[in-house]
Amino acid sequence: MDVISRNDALRAIPSVEEILKELDGDKSLSQIPRLLVTDCVRKTIDYTRACILTDKPTPTEPATIARLARESAQSLTLPSLKKVINVSGIIIHTNLGRSNLADEAIAAVCSVAKNYSTLEYDPSSLSRGSRHSHCEQLICALTGAEAAIAVNNNAAAVMMVLSEFAAGKEAIVSRGELIEIGGSFRIPDIMEFSQALMVEVGTTNKTHLADYESAITDKTALLLKVHPSNYRMIGFTETVDAGSLRHLADSENKRRRTENPTSTEMRNASLLVYEDLGSGALIPLACFGEYPEPTISQSLESGCDLVSFSGDKLLGGPQAGIVVGKKEYIDRLKKNPLARALRLDKMTLAALEATLRIYLDPKKACKNIPTLAMLSITDEELHERSMRLLNALSKELSPDCVELSVVEDIAQAGGGSLPMSNIPSYVVRIKFLRGNAQKCEEYLIKERSIPIIPRIKKEAILCDVRTLMSEEDLFEIVAAFKEYFATLVQEKDRG
Ligand SMILES: *Cc1c(COP(=O)(O)O)cnc(C)c1O
Repeated sequence: MDVISRNDALRAIPSVEEILKELDGDKSLSQIPRLLVTDCVRKTIDYTRACILTDKPTPTEPATIARLARESAQSLTLPSLKKVINVSGIIIHTNLGRSNLADEAIAAVCSVAKNYSTLEYDPSSLSRGSRHSHCEQLICALTGAEAAIAVNNNAAAVMMVLSEFAAGKEAIVSRGELIEIGGSFRIPDIMEFSQALMVEVGTTNKTHLADYESAITDKTALLLKVHPSNYRMIGFTETVDAGSLRHLADSENKRRRTENPTSTEMRNASLLVYEDLGSGALIPLACFGEYPEPTISQSLESGCDLVSFSGDKLLGGPQAGIVVGKKEYIDRLKKNPLARALRLDKMTLAALEATLRIYLDPKKACKNIPTLAMLSITDEELHERSMRLLNALSKELSPDCVELSVVEDIAQAGGGSLPMSNIPSYVVRIKFLRGNAQKCEEYLIKERSIPIIPRIKKEAILCDVRTLMSEEDLFEIVAAFKEYFATLVQEKDRG
C-alpha cells in the first residue's frame, strides 16, 4: 500500500465513540460491564490500525468493527477451558488434559473443594498434620518404596531432585537420554536451571558402563537415568540399566568411605542413582506389547535410590509428579524449599489419593481408571462401540452425503508413553460425498459448543471411540455431523 492510500485507510478507521454508538442497546452485551466493552472496542480498533500499518487486508466499516468488538466482549462471558470430545485415537493427549479422572477421584475432589478438610490436620493427634501424609503410605504400598513425596508435576520433581542432590555438583547422564519432552522440558535445560553440572557420557546410540565409570569424580553426586518416554532407539544401540549403575555407585561409595574414614560429610556425599521414569506405570498392562514400560517397582528393585514419574500419564490420575525412594533422601526433599513452592493443592491431593486407592485392586484399576480402561478395552467391545456409532450416524446421515464404515486403524497411548506400542484399534470412517473432511473437522472443532476432536486420514474423518467417555458423547457426535451437513444445505440454498 502506498503512503497516501495507507493514510486514507487510517483516517477511515471509525472512532471508539462511533463503534460504541453502533453497539448501543445491544442485548447480547447487557451483562457485560460498559468499561470492558469499551476496552474491547479500543483493542479491536488498535488491531485494525496495526493491520493497515502492516499491509494486512482489513475491513474498516463501523458495522464490521462493531461485530468483531462484540464477539470479543461476548467471549469474556463464555468458558475458555471446557469439555471436548476426544476421538483422535490418542489416549493421553497432553493438549486435551491427558488423563480423565475416575469417578472415585472426582467425588474426592468435589468433597474437599466444597468442605474444610484434614489437609494439614491430623485428627488422631488433634494437632497439625502434613499434606504429604495423605498419599505417601499408598504410594509406598503400591511401589514397595520406603518413602514418597508428590509435587506439582514430574518436571517439578526432576528439578527438585537435581537441585537437592546435585546443585553445584556433577550429575552424569548418557547422551542417548538427553531428551526433550513436549512443552519445553529438556533435560539439559532443567539440569542447568537446577545448577547441576551435567556430565554427558557415551554417544547418541551407545553408552557403556565404562563411560559412566570413567566420568566419576569426587564431585559426582548423581547417576541420572532418563526414560526415553516419547521415542525409541532401535538398531545398533546400547544403554546401561539401573542395576549396573547401582553396582557402580555402590563401589564408588565404598571407595569414598574407605578413603575418607573420618569425614562426617560422607553420608551426604554418597553417589545416588536416580531414574526419571516419565510415564509411571504402576502395573504392567497387556497393551505394553513387546516394548514393556518399566513399572515403578521394577525400577526401584533394580536399585535406584530415587525414581520419579507423572501422575497424569499411565497412572491415570491428576497432574502431579511423584518421587519415591529411600526414606533418608525423601526426607531431605520434604525439607527442600522447592517442595513448598511446588506443593500440591488439596483438590489434586484428593484426586491422587483416590486414584491410588483404586490400584489396591488392579482389576478394578483397569476398569475404573479411564486411562487404563481405554488402554485395555477389548477388541470386541471396541468393535461393538464403533458399530453403535456407525449405526447411529447412518440413521441420521443421508447416503448421498457420506460413506460410513468401521475399519482397523492404530490408536496411540500419547503423552510420551509407549511410543512404539501402536495399539490396533477399530475406528468409524466417514468418507465425504458432500462437503469435505477438512471443512467438517473445522466445523466439529470450531463451531460446536462441545468441540469434537477427530483425525483425518486420506480425505476421510476417523472417529476412534476408544476414548469416548459416555453414550451421550456418542449422540453429540451424531448431532454434530448431522448439523454439519445441514449447514451445507443452507449454504447451497443461499448460494
Ligand atoms: C512426561 C515426562 C516428564 C515431564 O512430566 P510432567 O508431569 O509432564 O511434568 C519428564 N520426564 C519424562 C521422562 C517424561 O516422560
